[in-house]
Amino acid sequence: MNRVEELAANLAEVRERIDKACASAERDPAGVELLAVTKTFPASDVALLCDLGLSRFAENRDQEAGPKSRELAEARPDADVRWHMVGSVQRNKARSVVGWAHRVDSVDSTRLADALARAATAPLEVLIQVSVDGDPKRGGVPFDGLAELAAHVARTDELVLRGVMTVAPLGTHPGQAFAALEQAVTRLRDDHPDATVISAGMSGDLEDAIAHGSTCVRVGTALLGSRRLASP
Ligand SMILES: *Cc1c(COP(=O)(O)O)cnc(C)c1O
Repeated sequence: MNRVEELAANLAEVRERIDKACASAERDPAGVELLAVTKTFPASDVALLCDLGLSRFAENRDQEAGPKSRELAEARPDADVRWHMVGSVQRNKARSVVGWAHRVDSVDSTRLADALARAATAPLEVLIQVSVDGDPKRGGVPFDGLAELAAHVARTDELVLRGVMTVAPLGTHPGQAFAALEQAVTRLRDDHPDATVISAGMSGDLEDAIAHGSTCVRVGTALLGSRRLASP
């Protein structure tokens, strides 16, 4: 199999998993967006995924994503592509990140929100990253800080609050994490009705996430294969 055949086969499998999970949750698959996490893979793979119909890609490191997004723009100038930042953002990289990211899915502090707002040249969509277990290592604001951070983002003219993202903690049942997030988002929507995005679920747990209301799954390994380089 050449690379495009391999990616096509992987994509078909991932779509089938999403469809099945939606069927068991009695949800419309159109309500679950597929975000391809292309970190550590070359722009040539992103170009092939474009040819296969994907248009939303995610990266977790500014240094890698900036050049990759420019390479893709050269390789597929007509593709209508959107890039998402899903990794932690150092505040001094805010300007660089808004140069390539259409949405920053990993906002977890007021200081980062302010840095992004200062760097933004047009309204910037963001998600708030929530830490379900409060462990700061993976990034994310704990549940008890969510309402305050959401209010801060909503007050910031340059930012548009679109929803939340989480990474399920290792060693617990992901379904529990996603259920807790779903509850928190239900409360959040009382004050922020437009915060409709729940970005939850990766290669290993997308079914659990879809069962608990995820509207956006972030899939790397199941689409592109295993990453040779450890990605911090
Ligand atoms: C790498 C990454 C993913 C994709 O993980 P896979 O298990 O390879 O599907 C999703 N979300 C974030 C934040 C990531 O860093």
